[in-house]
Amino acid sequence: MQTENVSALMRVAERPPQLFVSGSGSWLMDEDGRRYLDFVQGWAVNCLGHCPAELTRALLEQAGRLVNCSPAFFNEPATRLARLLAAHSCFDQVFFCNSGAEANEGAIKLARKWGAAHRGGAYEIVTFHNAFHGRTLATMSASGKPQWNRLFEPKVAGFPKAPYGDLDAVAALIGPNTAAVMLEPVQGEAGVIAATPQFMQGLRALTRERGVLLVVDEIQTGMGRTGRLFAYEHAGIEPDLMTLGKGLGGGVPLAALLAREAVCCFEPGDQGGTFNGNPLMTAAGAAVLRALLAPGFLEAVARKGGYLRSRLEQLSARLGLGAVRGQGLLLALELGADTGAALVERALAQGLLLNAPRPNLLRFMPALNVAESEIDTMIELLGAALD
Ligand SMILES: *Cc1c(COP(=O)(O)O)cnc(C)c1O
Repeated sequence: MQTENVSALMRVAERPPQLFVSGSGSWLMDEDGRRYLDFVQGWAVNCLGHCPAELTRALLEQAGRLVNCSPAFFNEPATRLARLLAAHSCFDQVFFCNSGAEANEGAIKLARKWGAAHRGGAYEIVTFHNAFHGRTLATMSASGKPQWNRLFEPKVAGFPKAPYGDLDAVAALIGPNTAAVMLEPVQGEAGVIAATPQFMQGLRALTRERGVLLVVDEIQTGMGRTGRLFAYEHAGIEPDLMTLGKGLGGGVPLAALLAREAVCCFEPGDQGGTFNGNPLMTAAGAAVLRALLAPGFLEAVARKGGYLRSRLEQLSARLGLGAVRGQGLLLALELGADTGAALVERALAQGLLLNAPRPNLLRFMPALNVAESEIDTMIELLGAALD
């Protein structure tokens, strides 16, 4: 790959030299025809793998019918996907947008409007240390990434933070200015740390008792990633707001804010966006959701998650590495040393795509329809990279 070919792209990430040209299922191909087993899948985005037939078909059909008509008008795929999401969740109202950060901005705005109307102007949203909610100014402010503490100052005010899992700390932060508590059911970027069901249930009880909203950011955990359609289901609770992104479009830019009827206080003019809910993206989302809802699909995700976990635990025991944690097909392996970045590079050289969200661990987020034989191949390639 020639450096002059890429010099016009703004350098916002360190990227390896490979130029990827095609993909199929769990495999990506570069311009030299080399194959890579993809356990990143666009950061848990391509939930059905690369170029799944149902997604390609939905995009082609919709592209020939109607690509865009403006968010000022109803369109068929958006109404269909909204109905499907409402029918399969505890939420009633859906707002479509283009990225996870934009969905979280919507949740923050809705919570602030609700606080203004129902809690005497309350606007604070309690979030968590090491949380990741996106890269707009407000969602960076809601995030708890230490590296961002002094970036792009001044931050948006109103996001007091508690240690993840510490219910007493949340209770102490809820005051007259609090409108909501917002969290990821599994903190992905922080290193795949799952909230316990007890913590989720405790937060639901606490927010009810104190009269504030509970917002779940399921941009990474939603759409089947943890073995249930949404991760909040594991705790048997019903949050007030939820955001989706990543897997929702199966690879195309699609995100959503979902709200329960009782708290959905947006009025015409409060929220919108030029590309929001366009038929092409929502047709893709509807095809993805239909695939996830097929009988047995989510059970298979849970089973494969269990298989990946046990293979990682065997590998860890053999090589003296650390614990495996996470839920479903969102797992992490502790390395016991800060070798993550070097391992990602070595795995790439072996034809395996992995991610190290923290220096001392690897994260695994394969396609939800990954085959057990592909999990075996991944373990072999990872074992070779580790030796
Ligand atoms: C990826 C992610 C976001 C941001 O989504 P973008 O589409 O990159 O804006 C927000 N929250 C969580 C939990 C995420 O994983």
